[in-house]
Amino acid sequence: MAKPSGRSGIIQKIASSQPKLDLIDFKELHFKDIFGSNVFNEISQRERLPKPIFKALQKTIKKGEPLSHEIADAFASALKDWALEKGATHYTHLFQPMTGITAEKHDAFISPNSDGSAIAEFSGKELVKGEPDASSFPSGGLRATFEARGYTAWDPTSPPYIMDNPNGATLVIPTAFVSWTGEALDKKVPLLRSIDALSIQAKRVLKLFGKNVSKVNTSVGPEQEYFLIDSQFYFLRPDLLNAGRTLFGAPPPKGQELEDQYFGAIPERVIACMADVDIQLYKLGVPSKTRHNEVAPGQYEIAPIYEDSNIATDHNHLVMEVIRRTAPKYGLAALFHEKPFAGINGSGKHNNWSMSTDEGENLLNPGDTPHDNAQFLVFTTAVIRAVAKYPELLRVTVASAANDHRLGANEAPPAIMSIFLGDQLQDVIDQLEKGSPTSTKQGGHMEVGVTVLPKLPKDAGDRNRTSPFAFTGNKFEFRAVGGSQSIGGPNAVLNTIVAESLDFVATALEAAVKSGKTLHAAIQDLLPGILKDSKKVLFNGDGYSEKWHKEAEKRGLPNLKNTVDALPVIVSKESIALFGKYKVYTEGELTSRYNILCEHYVKTVAIEAKLTKFMSSTMIIPAVIRFQTELATAVNASKAAGVEGPTDLLKTVSTGLADLSKATSALCEALHHHTEGELIDHAKYARDTLLPKMLDVRKAADKLETVVADDLWPIPTYREMLFIR
Ligand code: ADP
Ligand code: MG
Repeated sequence: MAKPSGRSGIIQKIASSQPKLDLIDFKELHFKDIFGSNVFNEISQRERLPKPIFKALQKTIKKGEPLSHEIADAFASALKDWALEKGATHYTHLFQPMTGITAEKHDAFISPNSDGSAIAEFSGKELVKGEPDASSFPSGGLRATFEARGYTAWDPTSPPYIMDNPNGATLVIPTAFVSWTGEALDKKVPLLRSIDALSIQAKRVLKLFGKNVSKVNTSVGPEQEYFLIDSQFYFLRPDLLNAGRTLFGAPPPKGQELEDQYFGAIPERVIACMADVDIQLYKLGVPSKTRHNEVAPGQYEIAPIYEDSNIATDHNHLVMEVIRRTAPKYGLAALFHEKPFAGINGSGKHNNWSMSTDEGENLLNPGDTPHDNAQFLVFTTAVIRAVAKYPELLRVTVASAANDHRLGANEAPPAIMSIFLGDQLQDVIDQLEKGSPTSTKQGGHMEVGVTVLPKLPKDAGDRNRTSPFAFTGNKFEFRAVGGSQSIGGPNAVLNTIVAESLDFVATALEAAVKSGKTLHAAIQDLLPGILKDSKKVLFNGDGYSEKWHKEAEKRGLPNLKNTVDALPVIVSKESIALFGKYKVYTEGELTSRYNILCEHYVKTVAIEAKLTKFMSSTMIIPAVIRFQTELATAVNASKAAGVEGPTDLLKTVSTGLADLSKATSALCEALHHHTEGELIDHAKYARDTLLPKMLDVRKAADKLETVVADDLWPIPTYREMLFIR
């Protein structure tokens, strides 16, 4: 007798169990009382620090002035007292290594005395610099093993916070991770550098408009998509557990075609989990704002209110971490992978991006006066130019083995970078482009500084969801970022390419103004040329369509279809020059990132290939053999009774089994092959040989899933994982 699989038991259990909910009484608990309560923010700093220390610290935070030892010590001491009151026993320097997730090592505050007692200690030195001895984090060749240690340095612009554990709490200090020679080993350092680069250039442009601001920042609001499935199914899927995505699974009879999930009622268990997540995020000062169902069954979205891109990046890591930790309390598992289920919508992270001054003026806001409109057009044109000039760079920031399954699939933006402006703004830009220089100005055209722009819509009605880079009223939305990726990398690149564009614009305008032109005339002269060169990247149509792919090719837009094609862009001459010029990445840092990403790609595909082989050989093939044996018995029994048995089915199953075995052997063989050459050659092998062979195995297995007896099928099906909640 075949053993029944564990699935039916689990389904019964889920159906009959009421998951224990963490009941929160919102009549008692107001978010205004808890918001930021676990953060050593400006309010607690002012409360606890001596005035001169507080003031000096603000200068460091807001103006980037260096930090003295005395301030660090005083800050550390106040921070420690605050943390101990909050129940912290340990502290950690949290950093963002290039693995894309965050890393931490905890140290207790404890310091023993000679008399056998102990006190809590935490000095400025410990605050400012940590040595995680993180020699096994990828450095892509930046660290030789003899000097393998990197160190983490406190980032004063991102406040420390308390992370509650089931037992006690930890003080978390957001840090940058650098090598002894000062090279960036993480995603935060380049992001901070890119913000500075953009600020310098944007300030030049603003100065022309008569505005002297001390800093221009980029604001980011990342909309995070993710899946929640019952954790009991999750634990039965080695592929989800180890690769984050399903490597097998026939399409469910009902998928997302009815579109009855999007914005529908959120299941109870899920909303309980979301509420719990929100409370924790509020305590951590993360302004979680929006939650809703996404397009796919089992898929959800959370979006905070936008913040400075550095903080937004730290907070996005926190959002993922808190969801990941909280889901199990409600019997759920959270999936952030870009494509956990083939044929079902994947998860992205819409990176809403804008530039604003430290006085709070959004530079992508069209404004109300012709002068403001002119400023808006200059900044918007600079962004358009940046995307048109560096589409490959933008593309490579979202490249990963996981995102390859999503980008260009029929529900995510294509790998071709283009900009959607919407009808109104497109019309304005068209007029501006055709508008001849001031000397030969004709009527009916856009006159910078005189013409008033029409109101540009901000509502979702006029949205194009198929564009990777869309203007949405007062911000651009970069939609190609993957669900599990850090937004640090994409924003560092976006900031840098826009900095380069602003530099170009500022240089031209400064020269024209110096030669006696009015600013508005100088703008009117400059922008049409830029727009002429850049308009190939503007596209308001359907980005999913085959027609666009052809059209894009005609326009000469690059289409780097997968990670392996995209990665070499990182170390191109153009990239090295650009990032060097704006001091965002050194050549060594770019090379190291290129190596790490190649290696990461190779490792990811290799793990998936091994899992495919493992699941096929030890789970699926044995199940099919059991079914085949039952069928053979039935065929024989029927024969003995003189009636026609299930011979056709036996044949189908036997043929399927032969196909699956063959495909699995081929994959096994491919896995044993040793590639020669550079990392990128290994990556090519993974893409061109391993991935197709994995797909062969999957196809054979998925076919069998639709014929093998359901009680014998060893792994939870798409139907179950996506619809049983
Ligand atoms: P959508 O219609 O795309 O959902 P929302 O207005 O809800 O647009 O915003 C989505 C995200 O964009 C939110 O995180 C929001 O805070 C953020 N956002 C709004 N304005 C800006 C801005 N000026 N700069 C950056 N992000 C912004
Ligand atoms: Mg959006």
